[in-house]
Amino acid sequence: LASRDFHPDNTVIKIKDVEIGGEQLVIMGGPCAVESPEQIDEIARLVKAAGAQVLRGGAFKPRTGPYSFQGVGVEGLVMMAEAGKKHGLLTITEVMTPEYVDVCAEYADILQVGTRNMQNFDLLRKLGTIQTPVLLKRGFSSTYDEFLNAAEYILAGGNPNVMLCERGIRTFESYTRNTLDLAAIPALQTLSHLPVISDPSHGTGRRELVEPMSKASVAAGANGLIVEMHTDPDNSMTGDGVQSLFPEQFAQLMVDLEKLAPLC
Ligand code: PEP
Ligand code: MN
Repeated sequence: LASRDFHPDNTVIKIKDVEIGGEQLVIMGGPCAVESPEQIDEIARLVKAAGAQVLRGGAFKPRTGPYSFQGVGVEGLVMMAEAGKKHGLLTITEVMTPEYVDVCAEYADILQVGTRNMQNFDLLRKLGTIQTPVLLKRGFSSTYDEFLNAAEYILAGGNPNVMLCERGIRTFESYTRNTLDLAAIPALQTLSHLPVISDPSHGTGRRELVEPMSKASVAAGANGLIVEMHTDPDNSMTGDGVQSLFPEQFAQLMVDLEKLAPLC
């Protein structure tokens, strides 16, 4: 079902007035984690003012260590839904377990499956039983075939609304947090009809590389970007402040991107 062979036309996922996978670029921006109502409201305001369509933010965070901040949970879903509604943005948030799929889908417009859960087959199966769009992130050691098979689990369950996200893979290079596999963008679009979104934030782990890799992703044909932005990156509650753009940088990026491709 994920293969281009069985579905020659591009899949376009329509959510309210936003089309993902069509001619226009979709930009998702926001913090790594929802921290407080004030934080997410202010960031939502800035994301909207910059011209993006989707607010990102994690309420449940898949942290490498068990003692790290794990996210504010369901309360964060409520805070983000309110901010999205107030500022006229769609929302995307990560879901980590099958048990939380329904509550996350109640509050968010798009559900994100993180890199660490790309092969959490119980989660994928559960996501196949609903119609809420899913942004499936590539496992950091997964091949395109494994990635497309993970998407297949969701599609096979009956949910056709899947987008693929290249977010960098693990290589020998340690200067960057991950190696953003730019070739994955056109390769996945050749193999599959699903929209492909690039994540230059996790794909590089370095703020100064987000702008060039965003442009490179668009040049490579990405249907959209998911970018971390924070009003106070140095004090963000996850370690992802180092890869988060300042609001002015995010706004400038939007201006630059508009010169490369039409925005939604
Ligand atoms: C995130 O989007 O904040 C995140 C944890 O992403 P990934 O699963 O790609 O590491
Ligand atoms: Mn993050």
